[in-house]
Amino acid sequence: MTPQEVLQTYFGYDAFREHQQDVIERLVAGSDAFVLMPTGSGKSLCYQIPAVIRKGVGVVISPLIALMHDQVAGLRENGIRAEYLNSSLSADDAARVEEKVRSAQTDILYVAPERLFTPRCRRLLDDMNIALFAIDEAHCVSQWGHDFRPEYLRIADVTRQFPKVPRVAMTATADDVTRREILRKLELTEARQFISSFDRPNICYRVRLKDNGKRQLRGFIRDEHAGETGIVYCRTRRRVEEVALWLEEQGINAVAYHAGLAPEKRLTAQKRFAREEGIVVVATIAFGLGIDRPDVRFVAHFDIPMSMEAYYQETGRAGRDGEPADAWMIYSLGDVVAARQMLMRSEGDETFKLIQQRKLDALLGYCETMACRRQVLLRYFGEVRDEACGNCGTCRSGGADAWDGTVAAQKALSAVYRTGQRFGAQYLIKVLLGQEDERMQRFGHDRIKTFGVGGELTAKEWRSVFRQLIALGFLTVEMDRRAGFVLTDKSWPVLRGEQDVQFRKDAAPKKSKREKRPEMDLDPTASDLWEHLRKLRHEIAQGLEVPAYVIFHDKTLKEMAVQRPATREDLLQVSGVGETKADRYGDQFITAITDWESRSA
Ligand code: ADP
Ligand code: ZN
Repeated sequence: MTPQEVLQTYFGYDAFREHQQDVIERLVAGSDAFVLMPTGSGKSLCYQIPAVIRKGVGVVISPLIALMHDQVAGLRENGIRAEYLNSSLSADDAARVEEKVRSAQTDILYVAPERLFTPRCRRLLDDMNIALFAIDEAHCVSQWGHDFRPEYLRIADVTRQFPKVPRVAMTATADDVTRREILRKLELTEARQFISSFDRPNICYRVRLKDNGKRQLRGFIRDEHAGETGIVYCRTRRRVEEVALWLEEQGINAVAYHAGLAPEKRLTAQKRFAREEGIVVVATIAFGLGIDRPDVRFVAHFDIPMSMEAYYQETGRAGRDGEPADAWMIYSLGDVVAARQMLMRSEGDETFKLIQQRKLDALLGYCETMACRRQVLLRYFGEVRDEACGNCGTCRSGGADAWDGTVAAQKALSAVYRTGQRFGAQYLIKVLLGQEDERMQRFGHDRIKTFGVGGELTAKEWRSVFRQLIALGFLTVEMDRRAGFVLTDKSWPVLRGEQDVQFRKDAAPKKSKREKRPEMDLDPTASDLWEHLRKLRHEIAQGLEVPAYVIFHDKTLKEMAVQRPATREDLLQVSGVGETKADRYGDQFITAITDWESRSA
């Protein structure tokens, strides 16, 4: 079969996406490849199709043991003979799998890296016919990354024994340094590299000011994502539990996840996230690697992440299926202060802290940007876009308003300086507004030049000024004591009148309106049928103990609801329906559609 035929027959898709065909052809021809493409761009197909075409078994090395079961189930639903070997299998089951692999009754075998080096697995590799090696999440080889897996360093020792077998390494996260590290440590320096844009066009990036975080979050979920699956990231464990509980009280199906939970609880949360429709996981960053669900409709940041890398990776878990998804974040002056302080208190030498500081600066700059958010995000990763995207908060609201904040900045910085760089926003704003109290009198701050000069702005507007000054690096936060604000090198040019400052006008907290994107919406008739089909899918998935998307993706189901296929041939036209699924579920879905039509006629 040709790659195109496999794509249609097994996966039910019409056309390849960028790079897929090139990678596949290369592997089929027996050469190596390195694939750097963002989440959701279709990396798996790049090794799955050659594994089907080439003689022998494609060996996929993946650290995501928890996902293997569902990945294999998904492939089998497409008619591909897939197996896995990891520590969750009993000895008997493992022996059965090995037998199938040895007797060439398998197309794809998933293996946990630690398994690869066992003498038993070595014997298996020697006895079998290997079609290719696919090394998934290749960035795990990097000692500097947070997903480092020591076993990954030994993968090359194994693949070196099979010099004729083509190899492909894949990742969605790699800066230049990491990329070179991957190629070197996996001995792939000769491999052809396929690198895609980091853009995730279906994700809409939005950042809002936090005023009542929980209520804003509830509004966002209820108005825009009712009954859908999402992830809410919080910084601390305590906040995770608090927010999860609160959402549950509000009637939203939510579950908490953080590293401090008992292992059984974590496992339950993970299982629920993998299986349930319309579940919201509230989590710390510990909830990360291993989230493979394609239909996550939103990622909400209740607290700001510490870097653009983290933000990109966390938001990237939304919308892997290519359907519209939201990356939504709220933040406040308090968060900015807390993030800066957390960094300064963290362990590590000065250089390390400086790097972390720069990373946080970039993220804060992104929060406060007046430009298209996607442009800023991509520029951080070295991609320059001339056009605004049209699908971010800034673009959709017609651009952010700026105001000349030079004088306000001078007043605020001067208030900091003249009160001895010891106080936080609350006190400083009182000084600026001329609201003396007993403490202020005691310090004599009611007599300084800055006292009462800030009447042109409200307390709330002054908070916005301080937040932006800190975010933009014109002020920083004292390390010890009580988070007093301190001037930086950047403060002086402003105070001396040598530099202008532009501030972003904070959008008035709108009553959150329904902002659903049209392409996501089906007309009422189609959406009634879609609900029907969803129920059917749910029953089938439960019976088989697999996630619903393993049966059909949302996109496929929606297309069915619109096109209403009446025959097997019609059904095969729907994207995501291959021969095997048409055989297995065609009748059930066609019957459901005809029944629904006769009932609603
Ligand atoms: P990645 O591993 O890069 O995160 P996946 O391989 O999981 O991405 O693919 C993401 C989604 O895109 C999956 O639902 C997959 O079935 C779908 N997909 C991949 N290639 C195509 C294609 N050529 N046409 C349509 N859908 C595709
Ligand atoms: Zn934009």
